[in-house]
Amino acid sequence: MTSDRPSRRVPAGKPSLRIPVAAPSITEREGELAREAALNAWGADHYRYNRQFEEMLAAHCGVAHAVSLPHATSGLHLALAALGIRPGDEVIGPDVTWIASMAPVSYMGAVPVFVDILPDTWCLDPAAVEAAITPRTKAIIGVDLYGSMCDWEALRAIADRHGLALIEDAAEALGSTYCDRPAGSLGDVAVFSFHGSKTITTGEGGALVTNNPGLHARVQKLRDHGRPPGDRFFLNDEVAFKYKMSAVQAALGIAQMERVDDLIRYKRQLFGWYADRLRDVPGLSLNAEPQQVKNSFWMVTAIPDARYETDKFALQSALSDHGIDSRPFFSSLSALKAYAETDCRKLATPRPETARIIHAGINLPSGYGLDEASVAYICETFAGNLQGCKKR
Ligand SMILES: *Cc1c(COP(=O)(O)O)cnc(C)c1O
Repeated sequence: MTSDRPSRRVPAGKPSLRIPVAAPSITEREGELAREAALNAWGADHYRYNRQFEEMLAAHCGVAHAVSLPHATSGLHLALAALGIRPGDEVIGPDVTWIASMAPVSYMGAVPVFVDILPDTWCLDPAAVEAAITPRTKAIIGVDLYGSMCDWEALRAIADRHGLALIEDAAEALGSTYCDRPAGSLGDVAVFSFHGSKTITTGEGGALVTNNPGLHARVQKLRDHGRPPGDRFFLNDEVAFKYKMSAVQAALGIAQMERVDDLIRYKRQLFGWYADRLRDVPGLSLNAEPQQVKNSFWMVTAIPDARYETDKFALQSALSDHGIDSRPFFSSLSALKAYAETDCRKLATPRPETARIIHAGINLPSGYGLDEASVAYICETFAGNLQGCKKR
């Protein structure tokens, strides 16, 4: 386990230490609590750390119930199962996101329906959602991409008008708010990820949160092989799933939640350092923060407009030559090989702005432990490379 190392300045032109695109913030406290859990969380105490982690998370999100899970993917699977999604049902979600947002729809034998995102927030376009609704539509999955927030007011109105469930994939948005409401509290049910790259981490890990007691009870049963509450006799009511987070992971989560406000503050400061240096680069847009939103900026993301003749993979390789790791903006899911032979409804045509975003957008290093000097180096390198890509 590494300690919370501060700076990794790479001298200009000399890629010795690489700057990672993501890195967790792990201190001695995480190590101590994980050790404590490994020694003590057994027998009657086996769920003690999970319970505490769940309470901290629920309090942070302002929701009644949190369930610790192996990953966000299992959270979405459970959400769909608990909502009673059946084979042939349609579930609408964004065409541009990590595949984990939508893969669980196929696990249920349901049909993912991919719709366009908005050019500024990179989240679901409510008008496109409304246009995609059919009598088979059962749910909408909104994804708070890179810390950005969906237009939850519009999505809620659509869901209510058509009697649809609203699922929030907040895997990338812990700490963001929409109209002062925390990410995770905007859907009927929401999920978080605690993968090593995310805002807080438990190694692998995730959670489902909800205010709905019926849904919570259903999820608790479904994630424990369909055992009735308190079952000690192995008398299962139905064939279901086994999705649990270990106590050692939950202990890591407690240590992270103890510092969650500091971690979110750091993410916002990091974005500020980037924005100060990239704001004046012509034709470059960064993560949006509309007036009603506080963005926790999980990943600093930059989209060069069409005046630059380059794409995300070329930009990544240029940065990599200078010791800087990055990630490409997510691609169109419906255009991936994964969905070539998977039942789904593909996006007809993305708007030109979306095509541009997924062609040229990249995530810049956003890990913990980066200092302002490293950010200055990254921005200098990135802006310099962009200048060389200007159309003549
Ligand atoms: C990381 C991520 C997930 C999946 O998280 P896991 O914990 O890896 O299952 C889902 N949706 C989005 C948007 C993500 O970024």
